[in-house]
Formats: sequence, C-alpha cells, structure tokens
Amino acid sequence: MADYIFNVARVLAQTSGPSRVVDVVAPASVLDVPELSGPVRGTARFTRLSDAVLVTGEMQAPARLPCARCTDDVDVKVEFALDDQFVPRVDPVRGGVIDPGDRWHLDPGHNLDLSQVLAEGAISALPPRVICAGPCEAPWDGPAMSEPAMDPRLAPLERLRRQMLHKDYDSHG
Ligand SMILES: [Zn+2]
Repeated sequence: MADYIFNVARVLAQTSGPSRVVDVVAPASVLDVPELSGPVRGTARFTRLSDAVLVTGEMQAPARLPCARCTDDVDVKVEFALDDQFVPRVDPVRGGVIDPGDRWHLDPGHNLDLSQVLAEGAISALPPRVICAGPCEAPWDGPAMSEPAMDPRLAPLERLRRQMLHKDYDSHG
C-alpha cells in the first residue's frame, strides 16, 4: 500500500489505547499540485475519537515557484500541519451511510487516504510571492531609458508648434 493510504480498521476497532504513528510519503505526482517539486513527507498520528479517526501531524515538501520579479524558478520548502477527521462510510453500529459533514470519508475497507488533505495542506502553505536570490533583487542600475535628444533641425518647428498651441489655447480661454 502507498505511504499515504493507511488501513485504520484496527484503530477503529479499539475503544482506547495508544494512537498509531506512521511515516507519510506522498509523491508529488499523486497530489496533483504542480508547484510541488518532490514528495510530501512527515509523521502522522491516528487517534480514535468516539465516531472518527483524528489525523494530526507535521508535513513538509519542496516546491518550486516563479520569482515575482523575473522568470527564474525559486525553490522553497512548504510546511503545514494536519488536523483532520475521517469517519467510516457506513455506521458500524446502526448501519446506513454517515454524513461526513466537514470531515472526510474512509473508504469501505476502512482505508484512510491522505492524498486529498496533503494536497490541500500543501496548496494552502505555498507562499503567495517569492523573490529569487539572483540579481533581480538589486535595483536596476543600467542606462536609464530616456527620450532621445531632439534633432537641432527640428527645434524651430517645435518652437513654432508650441507657439501655435499657446495661441490656440489663448483664443479659447
Ligand atoms: Zn528573480
């Protein structure tokens, strides 16, 4: 089984006891988050609640984002915490499908698939704006763009044009 899907049938069966700790490795390819440049890794803890399995843990992943000032890619590390509840699809006592509300469903075999919560966590942890360490960080100090100097032969024409504009302006105002 992949290192981001865990069978929690035994966690569900126990009424109390130590929580289960697992190592999580989820390849970027299964998470469908194009910014990720490597797998999400971390440690997750499964704790039995009265009607759900609580997943907590700390995750991190490498990501690659475009610089906000130039076209270079910037490598960053994203970190996020898990705090999600998974409920069985079918109520083990009363039967019938459980409405998950804002929680997640286990699959019918009581497998807990973390890919969705890992993808959402990674997306929410992406920095909104990154700047590369390259020269684009320094202010541009090359030759300033400026108007080309006026050809001296055009100067009399320009003077004339301004006089006409001025007259025109006067006659109307
Ligand atoms: Zn840059």
